[in-house]
Amino acid sequence: MESQGIRRVVIAGGGTAGWMAAAVMSKTFGAQDLSITLVESPSIGTVGVGEATIPPILTLNRLLGLDEDELVRRTGATFKLGIEFRDWGGLGERYIHPFGHYGANLRGVSFHQHWLLHGDAPLGDYSMTVAAAREGRFTRPSADPKHIHSRLSYALHFDAALYAEFLREQAAARGVRHVQGRIEHVELDDRGHVAALALDQDRRIEGDLFIDCTGFRGLLIGEALGTAYDDWSRWLPMDRALAVPSQAVTPRTPYTRSTAGKAGWRWRIPLQHRTGNGHVYCSAHLSDDEAAAQLLDGLDSPASGDPRPLRFTTGRRQKMWDRNVVALGLASGFLEPLESTSIHLIQQGVVTLMSLFPDRGFAQADIDEYNRTMADEFEKVRDFIILHYHQTRRDDSDFWNDMRTMEVPGSLRRRMDLFASHGRVFIKPDELFTETSWVTVMLGQGLRPRNADPVAAAMPKGEIAPQLTRMRQLVQNGVEAMPTHDQFIAAHCAAE
Ligand code: FAD
Repeated sequence: MESQGIRRVVIAGGGTAGWMAAAVMSKTFGAQDLSITLVESPSIGTVGVGEATIPPILTLNRLLGLDEDELVRRTGATFKLGIEFRDWGGLGERYIHPFGHYGANLRGVSFHQHWLLHGDAPLGDYSMTVAAAREGRFTRPSADPKHIHSRLSYALHFDAALYAEFLREQAAARGVRHVQGRIEHVELDDRGHVAALALDQDRRIEGDLFIDCTGFRGLLIGEALGTAYDDWSRWLPMDRALAVPSQAVTPRTPYTRSTAGKAGWRWRIPLQHRTGNGHVYCSAHLSDDEAAAQLLDGLDSPASGDPRPLRFTTGRRQKMWDRNVVALGLASGFLEPLESTSIHLIQQGVVTLMSLFPDRGFAQADIDEYNRTMADEFEKVRDFIILHYHQTRRDDSDFWNDMRTMEVPGSLRRRMDLFASHGRVFIKPDELFTETSWVTVMLGQGLRPRNADPVAAAMPKGEIAPQLTRMRQLVQNGVEAMPTHDQFIAAHCAAE
């Protein structure tokens, strides 16, 4: 294999991960130069949840040449400006984690440092995105950098099954071969590489590169290759979820809602045709019946069916690329959807694979680079999620007492200590979660810096404070000039 080029790619699994991989690969290489086959089993089905996304999905959609209005119409999507967190820092508290930024940095110093010294209104009042979310308004960002609406950033809530279907059409039109059948056996060659997938009815699919998108089971990466899994449940002990749709409610909020419960949290995701709801919880602290009762009690419209149970172990494959298998989606690892990152991690995996594509055969340096990059991505998301559970004053259950007092990873401890001291946040340019994200959750859940930033404090209040007031007024004016979220959808992209 080392000397041979890769000509045959086989994608195992036709959930969001499988079809994202097929769409990106066929768009990148065309299916003439590379034969791409996707195998899925309709009788096994997909996990069927995964409705909230984050802004990088828009870049992927543009790269794939998808028309956003058509996509929104066909997937019953709504627009998402951020996530509202309820009861996380303490019972009765709430804040919005927005996409985009607060105000603007002044004289090279981060906005939040000035706000900590001179802010005369809640932090969210300085964010166009938070203010719009709170008032249920939406418009797309202006391309004119001087326009106040250029400060907006957004993502989508969509029906993941319809999104996968949309991508399937794109991929099929570019020549991806779609095979329906159950993978019964994974054949290995004498080096331990996957040689072929044996399907029901004596069918067999050979390949050079295999993409494992078979969901939690990880049929190729886990069951056939035995690639180890790093279990992170000592920090994130949530291991079950219940998902249930309910009737659509208007006005549709342009944000996801996450409400912390006794031993986990519940999501609420508004789509055009329904609302997605779910409860992620820790089975050591909450029974399935209690979890279902809390979920159903918290719905704001009648449920359409019974809650569907899901089980998982938080963590990731030690190697997401092992030999000639690259795992994407749930086969590569799982982090609860508190910050809607799973689809993004699929995107990151496919894009990273494209940038290291083994066209001339497998090179260990490429494989190692892929594994390092993806491990880093997963770990940064992991730390950010742990922050939500650990930075809390909640003491109303054993669960919260455990989470509040646990030992967190050193990488997170360092970030929290830096912020607790002087409100400092150090972010590398390519990090998924920006300074805004870290500042929002740390302040939103009650971590206040002990000291002022000396550089910000050295600047004259008479000069800085009026600029903060002006930024807040600009935000308010900008929000008032927007249509409501429902009006925007009706005008541009209402589902038929
Ligand atoms: P799956 O959807 O499970 O697809 C697996 C595929 O493999 C199927 O096509 C199946 O037929 C095929 N397959 C399996 N075994 C075989 C076999 N033997 N033969 C042939 N085919 C086979 N992500 C977000 O980004 N945002 C969210 O809000 C979000 N919410 C979530 C909530 C919960 C409770 C959970 C569990 C996940 C959530 N996710 C979310 C994650 C998201 O659902 C997944 O990342 C995404 O759906 C990708 O799934 P997948 O394609 O890897 O696996």
